[in-house]
Amino acid sequence: MTIGARHAAITVAIGLLGVVLGGCGAPVSGTEHSTTEPVASSTSSRPAPRTTTTTTAPPTPDPAEVDANELGLVPVLMYHQLTPNPVSEYDQTPAEFRAELKRLYREDYRPVTAAQLVSGDIDLPAGTHPVVLTFDDSTASQVRIAKDGDPKPDTALGILTAFGQQHPDFNSTATFYVNADPFAGDRRALAWLHDNDYEIGAHTSTHANLGSLGSADVRRELVSNISGIKAVAPGANVRTMALPLGIFPNDRGLTRRGSWNGQSYRFDGVMLVGAEPAPSPFAGLDGAGVPRIRSGEGRVKFDSAYWLDWLAKHPKRRYTSDGQPDVVSFPRRMADGLVDDRGAEPNPY
Ligand SMILES: [Zn+2]
Repeated sequence: MTIGARHAAITVAIGLLGVVLGGCGAPVSGTEHSTTEPVASSTSSRPAPRTTTTTTAPPTPDPAEVDANELGLVPVLMYHQLTPNPVSEYDQTPAEFRAELKRLYREDYRPVTAAQLVSGDIDLPAGTHPVVLTFDDSTASQVRIAKDGDPKPDTALGILTAFGQQHPDFNSTATFYVNADPFAGDRRALAWLHDNDYEIGAHTSTHANLGSLGSADVRRELVSNISGIKAVAPGANVRTMALPLGIFPNDRGLTRRGSWNGQSYRFDGVMLVGAEPAPSPFAGLDGAGVPRIRSGEGRVKFDSAYWLDWLAKHPKRRYTSDGQPDVVSFPRRMADGLVDDRGAEPNPY
């Protein structure tokens, strides 16, 4: 079944249930985004707070000057196919994707990976806002590598890297959630992503509906997915996964850790589908279920146009960096919102 057909089939099923649709044809209900499962804190690669500095970097502005708020919301955007002739409501044109990158840049968003978000490893200039760009299903419209070794210009990766070259301070990066034999079997694609500090995440080997599988099959889907990635990009550390169709397995814990055939896995972050910005990693982001926003310009409710407008209208609710990766700055009135400093130094002002 093609991805479009898969989406269509799920759309019909979900329509009967009367719930809002998200990307990957997934149901988005009020409870889909949250979980009450106790979950261990995500591991963090953040170094211990520094108390001295000997660098000659330009001075970092006072957090109050840039309205720093590292307890604010972070949009995690979700993309699928990129095509000049969209046939499914999940498709997007290259022009639409370019326009969204321009908007993000103009509004001072800077990309971080999903793994960086869930671990609080957000090292951005003062006054800028993190955004996570995620791509599901590893289609050839997302990544193809040309003979010269560069991404083909009409792919999502080609557009993103070209935009990054034109705007070096944009910090072009993204997270690609891949299935088996990703990007039409172009083996150079995963290696390119890994070599260029993009994140490669798991999306199961066969784009399985994990809710329909038993425990062993869920674990096999994830272990074989990771093994396939590492076979091509041996250094890749697969730290996050995205649920195909947004559907959890019956044992939700299997999306965080498990083993099959002697190989174990552990994910710091599990990406949901829809339909709101993610909390800050310092303000209660739950790695067991990270909400994403479907990229779009109003064709569906609560898409990226809706939420970027909303965040622009409510700038105090948005995550704004203080420019100091080892310090968590926020207005003093929000101090109750600090849930986990992740080893950084809290700085209410
Ligand atoms: Zn998918």
